[in-house]
Amino acid sequence: MMGSLPVLSVVSEIFPLVKTGGLADVAGALPAALLSERVAMHSLVPGYPAVLAGLDAAEPVYTAPDLFGGPARLLVARGKGLDLFVLDAPHLYGRGGNPYIGPDGRDWPDNAVRFGALARIGASLAKGTLCNWHAEVVQAHDWQAGLLPAYLHYDGGARPGTVMTVHNLAFQGQYPMELAGPLGLPPQSLQIEGVEYYGWLGFLKAGLRFADRISTVSPTYAAEIRTPESGMGLGGLLRHRAGVLSGVLNGIDEEIWNPATDELIPARYDAGRLEERAINKAMLQQQLGLAAELRTPLFGVVSRLTWQKGFDLLLAALPTLLGLGAQLAVLGAGDAGLQQAFAAAVERFPGRVGCRFGYDEGLAHLIQAGGDALIVPSRFEPCGLTQLCALRYGTVPVVARVGGLADTVIDASPMALGAGAATGVQFAPITTEMLESALMRTVGLYRDRSTWTKLQTNGMATDVSWRDPARRYAALFREVAAEAHATATPAG
Ligand code: ADP
Repeated sequence: MMGSLPVLSVVSEIFPLVKTGGLADVAGALPAALLSERVAMHSLVPGYPAVLAGLDAAEPVYTAPDLFGGPARLLVARGKGLDLFVLDAPHLYGRGGNPYIGPDGRDWPDNAVRFGALARIGASLAKGTLCNWHAEVVQAHDWQAGLLPAYLHYDGGARPGTVMTVHNLAFQGQYPMELAGPLGLPPQSLQIEGVEYYGWLGFLKAGLRFADRISTVSPTYAAEIRTPESGMGLGGLLRHRAGVLSGVLNGIDEEIWNPATDELIPARYDAGRLEERAINKAMLQQQLGLAAELRTPLFGVVSRLTWQKGFDLLLAALPTLLGLGAQLAVLGAGDAGLQQAFAAAVERFPGRVGCRFGYDEGLAHLIQAGGDALIVPSRFEPCGLTQLCALRYGTVPVVARVGGLADTVIDASPMALGAGAATGVQFAPITTEMLESALMRTVGLYRDRSTWTKLQTNGMATDVSWRDPARRYAALFREVAAEAHATATPAG
């Protein structure tokens, strides 16, 4: 009989302890989803104050008198239902607020050391050298864990298998080469075949170079990042490693995102009681200062506000959208210029545009449960989670045809409508004109009640759970675990 496979997930944020984006959702949901696949996943996370405060039980299993400039303890812990290793290193993580950004709005100046330490400890922990636990496979998430496969390589000797998972190629972690010594990387690593990236020390580059497998969060993104246009400087390396690169879609937590049981919305519903959504719509309109109009198509946005997400295009398309008689409800945080532009739109179009800036879990649920459509105009999108939530909530996603958005939404083309398969609206190329035409198409569909209901119920019947992704990850982990991994101890 096959035993459970011990896997270490090394990650810089994990829901519900600490979250800035989709990475935390994925890291938080995957361990539970993998249980039925006989994968026992532990997660190694930094001991930020929010993480330490959320632990139910914690016990030190290893102490380092000096981990890159200060003392550190490794805790084995349980918190919010997660099996954790927590790196308690106050000199690195004992700071409140955002995990990556200081109070001045800039990256913490020592981020290379903060996350280098996480990768260093993760590599040693996985090998079994820190305590009486080891992993057969390590999943390193994003640049913050990127050095881990490099550490294992240069340590030499037998090692666990490694999977580098890319959630967003735009964040690569490039730092001055002088940091290689302090981070414990050997001199022979400082070359293009090692961790060097155009004269810099590249964290993500290191992971992509040395991991046994590379995964990313959708099949289309896995193909896109191999191209010069979307490879963001790493396309060549990814083309070179195409044989070990695959895409596994994210799921969403079906308990947190369940319109039939959601405590964060006033009216619960399912595909057979869509009329209940009207109560949520009324509440949403009220909360965001929108005119109380049941029959007006209400478009929602739940997003970080950054260039990636394409909201400058939506702002340009706003007159067209409002000209169609629609309303817009925005929940977002990020770029000050985009926030200002949306705030100006609220002034200019009172009752038609409503915005809330900041992070608000409850309002995110209300927009999904009360909006008619959700707009995701991303220039690139590795997977995207909000369109998955929208499908589950009967909110019709209007998305750019890129990355995971292309893989998860079925466009209401004449063919898909005819076949009764459509779940949303896609547009490409990613321009204001194409977004405008998608918005026009969406309002047209909205006015045709039976077609709209079919779009909603098709979306709600779509499997956006972690079941299939968990099966795929488990297969990937077992494949890697079955290979013997040893690197000769490098000379010098
Ligand atoms: P990314 O990771 O690029 O930010 P994703 O779509 O993968 O984008 O994941 C975003 C996650 O964060 C979703 O769970 C979404 O509901 C949530 N989210 C984004 N912005 C906000 C916000 N302002 N308030 C509450 N939740 C938000």
